[in-house]
Amino acid sequence: MNLHSRILAAGALAALAGLSALPAQAQSPAYPTRAITMIVPFAAGGPTDVISRIVTAHMAQTLGQSIIIENVVGAGGTTATTRAARATNDGYTLITGHMGTHAASVPLYPKLAYHPEKDFEPIALLAGTPILILAKKDFAPKDLKEFATYVKANVDKVNAAHAGVGSVSHVSCELLNSVLEIKPTGVPFNGTGPAMNALVGGQVDYMCDQIVNAVPQIKGGTIKAYAIATPERNPSLPDVPTTKEAGLPAFQAQAWNAIFAPKGTPPEVIAKLNAAAVKALDDENVRKRLLDLGSVIPPTAERTPASLAALVKSEIAKWTPVVKPAGN
Ligand code: ASP
Repeated sequence: MNLHSRILAAGALAALAGLSALPAQAQSPAYPTRAITMIVPFAAGGPTDVISRIVTAHMAQTLGQSIIIENVVGAGGTTATTRAARATNDGYTLITGHMGTHAASVPLYPKLAYHPEKDFEPIALLAGTPILILAKKDFAPKDLKEFATYVKANVDKVNAAHAGVGSVSHVSCELLNSVLEIKPTGVPFNGTGPAMNALVGGQVDYMCDQIVNAVPQIKGGTIKAYAIATPERNPSLPDVPTTKEAGLPAFQAQAWNAIFAPKGTPPEVIAKLNAAAVKALDDENVRKRLLDLGSVIPPTAERTPASLAALVKSEIAKWTPVVKPAGN
C-alpha cells in the first residue's frame, strides 16, 4: 500500500469512527425501513382480524412499508399478547389488542405474564364494537324474552361459544349469564371467526360477539340476533332491538380494538404509527368499511395514545369487580 493509499485508508477509518460516534438515531434511516408485523391474537376472519386488516392496509400505504398480519392464537388472546409484550421494542412488532387482552384479562388471569399498562405503549384506538346476543338460526326462542326463559329452563342443554377465557365473547357472555343467573357450558374456539362458523353450522347454540363479525351473517340470514347491548340501535342493523328495548336493560356491553407496541418503543415511532392510524380512520373507504360492519369510529380526540392509555386504565377498573379469576 503506498502512502497515498494509506492516508486515504486512514481517512476512511477516521470517517467511519466519526460516524459511529453519532447517536444511533442519526445513523438509522427514517422508520420504517422494512415490513412491520401486526400480531392479531385471534384466528383469521374474526372481528380483531377484520378490523386490523382494514386499518393496516391503509397505514401501510402511509408508512411506505407492508404490514404483515400474524394470527397467533390461544388462551383467549393472552398467548399472543405475551409474545407482543416481549417483542423487540423497535416498532416492527405491534399488536391489535382489545377489551379482553388489554383489560378484562388482568382480573381473569392472576398470573398474567404481562400488564397492559406497564408492558405496552398505546398507539391508537381503532374502533368501538357493540356486542350482540346471537344464536344459531333454528334456536327455538323467537325474541330476547323467550331466549332468557329458554336458557334458564334448559341451562344443562344449551351451550355458548366463545374465543377463550378472557376474550371479549367470553367476558361479555359471562356478564350476560350473570344477569340471567345461569352457568351454561362454554365452547372455546381460537377466535370468533371459527366460533361464528360453528354458530352458522348449528354446532353451538348462542354467542355474544362484536358486531363486526355478526353484520354479514345477520344480513345473510344465517344466524339470529336477539339484541344489541348498547343504549342505541346500530345504523348497520336498524332492525335489531337494543337490550333495553328487548327487555334486558341490565346487559350493556361494548368492546373495542386498538393498536399497542411493546413498552419502550421510541416516541418518534409511536408518533408515526399514531399519525398513520389517524389518517386511516379519516379515509373515506376505510370509514365506510368499518361503518358498514357496525363499528364505532373514535372521534379525533379519542385517537391519541394518551386517550387510549386512559381507556385501558378505566376498562381494567371497570372489569376488575365484574369478572372473577378464571376457574372460580
Ligand atoms: N374478537 C375476537 C376475535 O377477533 C374474539 C373475542 O375476543 O371474542 O376473534
